[in-house]
Amino acid sequence: MTINGAKKGIPFIISAPSGTGKTSTCKLLRAKLPELKFAVSHTTRAKRNGEEEGLDYYFISEETFKQKISNGDFLEWAQVHNNFYGTAIDAIEKTIAKGDDVLLELDIQGVESLRDMNFSGVFIFILPPSLEELQRRLETRGTESPEKIKGRIETGKNEICQYKLYDYVITNHNVEDTAQNIMSIIKTEKLRAAHYVPTAQDLQTLLHSNRII
Ligand code: 5GP
Repeated sequence: MTINGAKKGIPFIISAPSGTGKTSTCKLLRAKLPELKFAVSHTTRAKRNGEEEGLDYYFISEETFKQKISNGDFLEWAQVHNNFYGTAIDAIEKTIAKGDDVLLELDIQGVESLRDMNFSGVFIFILPPSLEELQRRLETRGTESPEKIKGRIETGKNEICQYKLYDYVITNHNVEDTAQNIMSIIKTEKLRAAHYVPTAQDLQTLLHSNRII
């Protein structure tokens, strides 16, 4: 991932069936990896208690969202539970061009869109230890009616069956271990030969003179 010797950042895409613990994991990652940038999506859904504009999401109207779709502003967008969500191309491109790694939290439709366009990134899927445990977590969360929980479990089952869309699968037994596993993936991916950029002048000269970079 180098252009004229400049190091580009890596997009890390994370998704998980609803109730798996992705939001808590990403919160912990934010605290542990302050240098990792988080892609702030646009959404038409209402702001929840404690959420902040520009930090959790950009909260916009459906009309503005549709305008952005027709302007071609989104790298991908999807409709999830009757609301729209989209990732702005601009923010992602600027972040990786600066050499910063960026984390995108997407639903599975977003992952499918990015895979269809051969988007260069690392795709990580977080899974619950079991369907029984997923149900227990959704019930404990207490934010959805029993009917909605049933729907989320069914959607979750379909999503789990598509685990091969991803590069990595992590079972979320606890948030701390899951965050550590994601940090290991990030560390490993950054060591790939494709991401190597020499910092020493003599190595740069060597590789340039052999037309390797
Ligand atoms: P929530 O409303 O609970 O914050 O998010 C609902 C779902 O939408 C989650 O799976 C979340 O990861 C996903 N999501 C958030 N932002 C985006 C986005 O920009 N694109 C897509 N495709 N999904 C998103």
